[in-house]
Amino acid sequence: MNYVIRLTTKGISSNFKTNILGQVTFEPILDQIKRKDYILVLNEIKDGLDTNYYAGVVTSQKLNSDLLSNLKLPVLHSVEHSDHFSVNDVLLLDTTGHIRTLYRPTSRFNTIFTTDRCNSYCLMCSQPPIKKDDSERIIEHLRLIDLIDPKTEQLGITGGEPTLLRDDLLKIIKKCKELLPNTRLHMLTNGKMFYYSSFTEKLAGVDHPNLTLGIPLYSDMPTEHDYVVQSKGAFEQTTIGYYNLARFNQKIEIRVVLHALTYKRLPQLAEYIYRNFPFVVHIALMGLEMMGFTRTNLTELWIDPKNYQDELEKAVFYLTNRGMNVSIYNHQLCVLKPSLWKWARQSISDYKNLYLDECNKCAIKDKCGGLFSSAEEVHSKYIKAFNCDPIGVQKIGV
Ligand code: SF4
Repeated sequence: MNYVIRLTTKGISSNFKTNILGQVTFEPILDQIKRKDYILVLNEIKDGLDTNYYAGVVTSQKLNSDLLSNLKLPVLHSVEHSDHFSVNDVLLLDTTGHIRTLYRPTSRFNTIFTTDRCNSYCLMCSQPPIKKDDSERIIEHLRLIDLIDPKTEQLGITGGEPTLLRDDLLKIIKKCKELLPNTRLHMLTNGKMFYYSSFTEKLAGVDHPNLTLGIPLYSDMPTEHDYVVQSKGAFEQTTIGYYNLARFNQKIEIRVVLHALTYKRLPQLAEYIYRNFPFVVHIALMGLEMMGFTRTNLTELWIDPKNYQDELEKAVFYLTNRGMNVSIYNHQLCVLKPSLWKWARQSISDYKNLYLDECNKCAIKDKCGGLFSSAEEVHSKYIKAFNCDPIGVQKIGV
C-alpha cells in the first residue's frame, strides 16, 4: 500500500501563548534579521547554540525546564515525528503542542483552510462544519501568505465556507494579489454569498488577476440540490450567485459530486448548465470522498461508480460537444469507460492519494489518479489491474 503524506504531529509546547508560524530550516540562519520567519528544526539542541530571533525551535529531544528557560523563545520539544518536514515547509506551532504543516513548496495542493464554519450542511461534506467563532485565525492566514514562496503556481482557498469571513476573505485575496501575483487562486465555496451583489462587487473590486471560484451544483431540480446541501433556498442563491459573478467577470467552475442521489439526472444537469451558465470556465464531475458526513450517510449516497458510467458519458459528451470545458475528478481508470479516460485528471491531493495493492500490478498505474486514502475500505468492486495499456493512454492531465 502507498500511504499518504503526514501533515500533523505533536510534542510539548513551551514559552509561547499564541500560535507561531514559520518556515522550516535545519541549518542555522546567519542573518539574524531573517530569522523571525524561520523555525529551527533540530534533533538535538547543543550547548551554546545561538537561537536568538527565530520564530521558534522544534526538536524531538526531551528538554528539561532549565534548558527551556534558557532558550527564551517558543519551543516545541519531545516531538513525535519530524522526518516529514522539508526545508521551507511552513509550520504552525499550536499552543496545545500540535504542529501542522500548512504549506509545502514541493506540492501543488497547498490550501489556505480559512474556517471550520459553514452555512450549508451537505450530506457528503468531507470536512463537517463546526459552529465556533474562529475569525481570529485571519491573523494566521495573512501570516501564512507572507511565508509562501512567490513561485507557487497555484493555491487553494477552502473551508468550511470561506465567504463567511466576508471582508477578511477579501483581505486574504488582496494579500495574495500583492505578494503572490503569479499564483493561480482557486476558491471552493457554495456560492450562496454571491447572491448578494454588494459582496460580489467587493470581490470583483479586488481585481485578482487569476482567481477561479469552484461552486457546486448538484441538480437541475431546486429541491434536489437543496436536499443534498441541506439548506432550503440554496439552489436559488447559488444560481443567482453564478449570474452575479458573471456580471462582474469572475471565473466560475461548476463542481458536481456524483453519488446515488445525483447521478440519474446528470445528463439533465449537463443540459441545464449549458443552457443557463454557458459562461463557466470549467465543469468538474467528481467522485465521492469517503470522509466526514459521507461515511454517516453512506447508505443513502453510495453507488459503485461503475454503475453510473452511462450517465457520466452522456454528460461529458453533451458538454464537450457544445464547447464546454469538462473534467472528471477522483475516478480510477479501471472503473471509468475507456471512452472517458481523456477527461480524467490527477485530482486527488498528494497527501490524501492512495494506490491499493492491486494497483502495484497495474500497467497504467503511472497514468491513473488512484484513490482517496479514505477509500481504502469502501471503493468500487471493479478496481482491477491492467496487464497492458489497453488504449495507449497518455498520462492523464492535472
Ligand atoms: S488498478 Fe490500475 S487503473 Fe485501477 S485504480 Fe489501480 S492503478 Fe488505477
